Amino acid sequence: MKKSITPGQISRTNLELIYHYIYQKGPVSQQDIVYDLRLSRPTVASKINELEAMGFIKKDGQISSDLVGRKAAAYSIVPDYRIAIGVEIQAHQFKVLAVDLKGSHSMRRVVPLTYANTEEYVHSVCDYLNTYIDALSIQEEKVLGIGISLPGLVNLDGSEVTYGRILDCTGLKVERFQKYLRFPCRFLHDASAAAGSELLASPELPDFVYLNISIHLGASMIRNREIYNGRHGYSATIEHIQFRPDGPLCYCGKKGCIEMYCSMTSLLEGEEEEKFFENLRSGSPSYKERWLRFLKHLARAINNSHLLYDTVFVLGGYLAQHLTDADIDLIYDEIERLSPFPEHRDFVRISKMPVHNITIGSALPYIKEFLDRPIPASHP
Ligand SMILES: [Zn+2]
Repeated sequence: MKKSITPGQISRTNLELIYHYIYQKGPVSQQDIVYDLRLSRPTVASKINELEAMGFIKKDGQISSDLVGRKAAAYSIVPDYRIAIGVEIQAHQFKVLAVDLKGSHSMRRVVPLTYANTEEYVHSVCDYLNTYIDALSIQEEKVLGIGISLPGLVNLDGSEVTYGRILDCTGLKVERFQKYLRFPCRFLHDASAAAGSELLASPELPDFVYLNISIHLGASMIRNREIYNGRHGYSATIEHIQFRPDGPLCYCGKKGCIEMYCSMTSLLEGEEEEKFFENLRSGSPSYKERWLRFLKHLARAINNSHLLYDTVFVLGGYLAQHLTDADIDLIYDEIERLSPFPEHRDFVRISKMPVHNITIGSALPYIKEFLDRPIPASHP
């Protein structure tokens, strides 16, 4: 038997429809909502009042409306109705920021602290986070949670690191942090967090592979705007695909992994990243040679992955801010040389969010969950 929809459910659906419309298009007038959502004027007026009373939306100036020929009140969502905290743990520092419902960030802090799998380390990070959240001076119920990313694979619910050779944190459980924190927290693979930021910056992209090309290489696969982790969580771990059986030793213990040819560590020979690109762009032949070699390796990694999954490849991580269109052309030239198929030169692009992407992306799962959640009729 078909389930019947109660009037209450219809009403809530309209409430959500209107909220999400304002979220996407705001600031908008009531007339815009009536017209675009094909709802009656009294329904829209009553739902607007309800959303405004609950604090979800606010009046946001006036807007010209062709439909009524005069200025009308405009409505926008309240971005900090809820926020989430993003944390990025690295070997010698951790980064924190607060992200609102629109994905805008504030209060970014970088804290020097060397990672150690000790109670003292966990306690120090959590102490800092508790003080940080107090300093935000917002009501506690506004904080949705704390996403903590690190360079390692995590299980599906973000409760444990399943593979963490870079920081030597395999087996680390989120409950060790949770016991010191008064908000929900979870772990995220840093490449997935970065891919989450790219989803926010690229609403037009349903599917893509995100390459996080930083000190180390990482990747994340997006299908239907969701991160695809695979059966065992190993999806898109292209950094450990073997390029050369006799290649240099990777941190994973195997030889010749893509990590050893396409990470920033493999590109730099001890010099700072900025110094490398300064020398390269000023025309130094030896730097140019190293760069060409690196781009060829990267093209090969992209081509191999592209043959497996024909989608867009987004080049992100620290490398993104240094990449130029000419570099992308060189990558296409090399892919053309390697691929048996005619290539379309339309599937490799530079990240739209090259900075703070991992820290922002760490907070985004909490934001997404909040936006996906039904709006309760008696929301506080
Ligand atoms: Zn490896």
